[in-house]
Amino acid sequence: MLNVSFWRKLWSLKLPGKILHFIWRVCRLCLPTAVDLRNRHVNVETMCSWCHNQEENGIHVLFDCVFARAVWEAVGLSDLIQFKPDENVFDVFLRIFTQCTRSQAVAMSLFCWQIWNRRNKWLWEHINISVYGTKATAIRMLEDWKSAQQEESTRRRGQNVGSKVWQKPIMGWVKINTDAAVIPGTHQIGTGAVIRDEDGRFLHARCMDIAGEWSVKEAEARSLRDAVGWTVAMGFIKCIFELDSKIVVDACNGGSGRSNFYAIIAECVEDFKHLDEVRVQFTFKSANVVAHTLARASISMSCFHEWQGNAPEFISDVLSFDLI
Ligand SMILES: [Zn+2]
Repeated sequence: MLNVSFWRKLWSLKLPGKILHFIWRVCRLCLPTAVDLRNRHVNVETMCSWCHNQEENGIHVLFDCVFARAVWEAVGLSDLIQFKPDENVFDVFLRIFTQCTRSQAVAMSLFCWQIWNRRNKWLWEHINISVYGTKATAIRMLEDWKSAQQEESTRRRGQNVGSKVWQKPIMGWVKINTDAAVIPGTHQIGTGAVIRDEDGRFLHARCMDIAGEWSVKEAEARSLRDAVGWTVAMGFIKCIFELDSKIVVDACNGGSGRSNFYAIIAECVEDFKHLDEVRVQFTFKSANVVAHTLARASISMSCFHEWQGNAPEFISDVLSFDLI
């Protein structure tokens, strides 16, 4: 991941200004830790004021100090917070932000902010805030952030227009993006589908090539039909199906006719009955890149492929781009 993607991701988290500014300082390596002050010729004690075990640099205060470790343990993020001896605090942020979900990136930022605040309270006022207190304050901030995001996504949905960037489904739902690839003259189409959860986490994907002559709208409808059948079989019950074919979306949401195309749509609608709640919505191609990539790949791989839990290498970049 280029650094520019890192800064874009950081920006897109929509953190409160003071926290964004704090993370920005951390990543520009200008957090005024003891070691940093000494490097700027300020005469201070460089050992950590809490554990007195190591010099206080960014890595130590935020991740490695016994206090920081206890916080990461208490909030269940210690597996994520890994660092190597030669890394600086920006290297660690860069690597973790590349791997983690948006919510984890926000959580990490908020906990770092609280650990730093707590360090200042101890250093300047000798007030000892416990691991529990640090965790509780950051979790409150995380809840505020989540409800602000929820409000924004509700507001956007109210506008009922296709989005140009991929968006996570609402809480408790999964989103299934589907697409078809039609290559004229090959007597073959490819279909692809990907299922992601409310955090944008990858759950499943599959792609399949199908022989025969298909129009573009038939191929799009077929990709949806396969995805619906598959989703029902997997036991998901609240599903948003999203594709970049307006014709298919409109047909599912109330169209009717007599043609091969409408026969496929009727099969989709029949399968919707097995779901508790379902939406079929249009999205722009730019927000449907993962499904598109899968559909294209199915033609070159020419058979059926399915992935669970771990995304195949060839879509991992586009998956992480969707979360930026
Ligand atoms: Zn320490």
